[in-house]
Amino acid sequence: MPNPDPPDGRRRPRTESGRGRVAHEFLAADHPGTAVDLCELDHRNPFELLVATILSAQCTDERVNQTTPEVFRRWPDADALAESDPTELEEVIHATGFFRQKAKSLQGMAVRLLDEHDGEVPHALKDLVALPGVGRKTANVIRSVALDEPGLPVDTHVGRLAIRLGLTEETDPVKVEMALNPMVPTDERGVFGLRLILHGRRVCTARRAACGDCSLAWFCPSFGTADLPSSPHKKQKSS
Ligand code: SF4
Repeated sequence: MPNPDPPDGRRRPRTESGRGRVAHEFLAADHPGTAVDLCELDHRNPFELLVATILSAQCTDERVNQTTPEVFRRWPDADALAESDPTELEEVIHATGFFRQKAKSLQGMAVRLLDEHDGEVPHALKDLVALPGVGRKTANVIRSVALDEPGLPVDTHVGRLAIRLGLTEETDPVKVEMALNPMVPTDERGVFGLRLILHGRRVCTARRAACGDCSLAWFCPSFGTADLPSSPHKKQKSS
């Protein structure tokens, strides 16, 4: 199926980096705002976002946002969380799932903040990923949303979109991040990742690509393809 005509005055980008730049331009129109505006986890400071991202593993942002007000009220900082009663903490976060492991991660994170970082959330990626419950994607969300540092979060949505849009053939999340980083200005890496995540949640989902409703359809190499790769672990056949 041929792609729709380009918008007036536009030519289809023909390279990976060209598609990345244009994808960001059009997704910025779909999802305007900064990384702070686009982050769907409620928080008032870096510590609260760190807590919320740990709780968001295998859980919807909506459910996390229903849980965190009480968490933040009872344990507003690393000191309080490090001293929390594990049973009480498990009860409060129960609805987010995997509550025992998450309670351990939260307490371990708070203890490490106190021991290694004077109770503050560190800025360096290597320090963030050393915290219990924090992976590279989470660290990049915290860096770009709460710390004003560059960081492009790559989750399954970003991995899937990167393949479908022909931005890279890499499937390893770190390699995808490295491939996408130079496609946008350094200070826009975070918001680029967040926009791809929103597009992957709302339009180009794993189960169904709504190509008829997609602002990127005019140049997407996967437009109208019946057999789309649904996982970043499956490579699309190169044409
Ligand atoms: S919805 Fe269709 S056109 Fe849009 S990015 Fe996904 S596969 Fe491409």
